[in-house]
Order: sequence, then structure tokens, then C-alpha cells
Amino acid sequence: MKVILLGLPGAGKGTQAERVSGELGIPRVSSGDLFRDHQKRGTELGRLARSYMERGALVPDDVTIGMVMEWIADNASPGGFLLDGFPRTRSQAEALDEALAGEGGLDAAVLIDVSRAELVRRLSGRILCSRCQTPYNRREAPPGEPGKCDRCGGELYQRADDKPEAVEKRIEVYVQDTEPLVAHYREGGKLIRVDGERSVAEVGDALIRALQPVAT
Ligand SMILES: [Zn+2]
Repeated sequence: MKVILLGLPGAGKGTQAERVSGELGIPRVSSGDLFRDHQKRGTELGRLARSYMERGALVPDDVTIGMVMEWIADNASPGGFLLDGFPRTRSQAEALDEALAGEGGLDAAVLIDVSRAELVRRLSGRILCSRCQTPYNRREAPPGEPGKCDRCGGELYQRADDKPEAVEKRIEVYVQDTEPLVAHYREGGKLIRVDGERSVAEVGDALIRALQPVAT
């Protein structure tokens, strides 16, 4: 089973990728893991990627694809693999299709679907202590007393980056990349959509159920 997991930041992809990988017994990797691994090993691809990142430029698709294909060759079990956070754009998806063409292509692209309004609510929940910098989350990890740090009693505040307007802008950038990507997999008949606005456990159950027919 060759699967990719799609979803905007805040959709819970990392957590679900871990569960799906564990329960279905297929290795997973995120593009972040790949970059870190190549940097650590000082590979040619790693050096190339770093040279772009240091200039603030996007790493070209062929460099990222090179890392993904190398990982697949070394790690994919006979049962397949799960990619988390890659591809991120339609052109990356097309390059991946081409690279996998000899092995029958991808089996499924699973989208953890969460509305923008809900993502803004999730991602703008983060607040920090102005004195000791302890992080809290208004929804998931609220302080005992609103606005006050449990540890030192300091005042809690929200960074400009985490304010709803800033979060909305950040999401918009991803939406512009993700929509054509989702369309690509829908057109190819590979898209499976899972409602992501439920508990972490329920979303995970739905993902496993959705992938079962693909696995057998
Ligand atoms: Zn504090």
C-alpha cells in the first residue's frame, strides 16, 4: 500500500500518520524528517537542499523527489509506505507519479479535511507566559486561571504570529498549494476524504477504515 497523507497545518497529520503507520505496519516519513536526516548525514542532496534554504529559496522539486525516492528504495516494506507532508504542490505530485510509475503508482491520497475556520481556531489557541515563556493552549492545555501562568503567576499573552489574522494568512498560503494537489488526486481517482473535525481517536479510526479496502 503506497499512501500519502494530505492536510493543512493543524489538521493533525503527524499524529495520524504515526497511528496509521503503526496499525497498518507500513513505514512512514515526513519531508521534515528527510531534510533533517540528509543534513545529519551530510549527503549531496542534503547540501544542495541547504544551499537553497540558506538563501531563503524553495528547495527544487527534483532535490526533494530525490530524497523521497531514495527513502522509498531503502525503507519501503513489501507492504508499502506512508508519506506525510509530501508532495506539497501539484508539480511535486506529478514528479512523484512519474517516479512511481514503474511500481504501479500510488494507491491512495488521504485528505484529513478540516475547515479553515476550525484550523484558525486550533492554531490561534497558543498563548505564552510573558515572564517564564511557558506555552499554553486555550483549548487543549489551558492554564488553571485564565490569563495567568500556573508556574509563576505571570501574565499570558499571544504572539503576533499566533493571532487569528496572521494564522489565516499562513493557512491561505497552504490552501493555494493544497487545492490543486487535492484536485490532482481527485482527477486520478486516488483521493479519500476523511472528516478531520472530530476527536483524534475518531479521525484515526476513520483513516484506518478508509485504508483497509486499499490494503486488502
Ligand atoms: Zn510563567
